Amino acid sequence: MSKKEYLPIKEAAQWLGVTISTIHAWIRRGHIREVERPVTISVRCVPVCDLKKAFLVNCKLCGKTFKAKHPLKAAFCSVDHRNAWFREKALADMPRGRVRPRRRRKARATKSYRAAAK
Ligand SMILES: [Zn+2]
Repeated sequence: MSKKEYLPIKEAAQWLGVTISTIHAWIRRGHIREVERPVTISVRCVPVCDLKKAFLVNCKLCGKTFKAKHPLKAAFCSVDHRNAWFREKALADMPRGRVRPRRRRKARATKSYRAAAK
């Protein structure tokens, strides 16, 4: 097994410049895979091919691949694309046709009010 295919979590974190807990979180959330090294000692390792694209995200609007600081949070390549996506979503959610205003309930005199009026 070549050493370049997999990296232990500690080395992977150093290589990417993130903390070890970030790597653990990414594994937990399925962002990167984890491989058990085929040796007697089980060291938690991650494949280098996953690490190389760990920061890459596809834009929800145009599908462009871009580098994000927080790959699990980022979804859009630019602010314009984010705004455009939410505008489309808002338009799709808007009811069609004329929206009827809600009918207000008639105010009714309560028992205590009627008692006070007497
Ligand atoms: Zn985009």
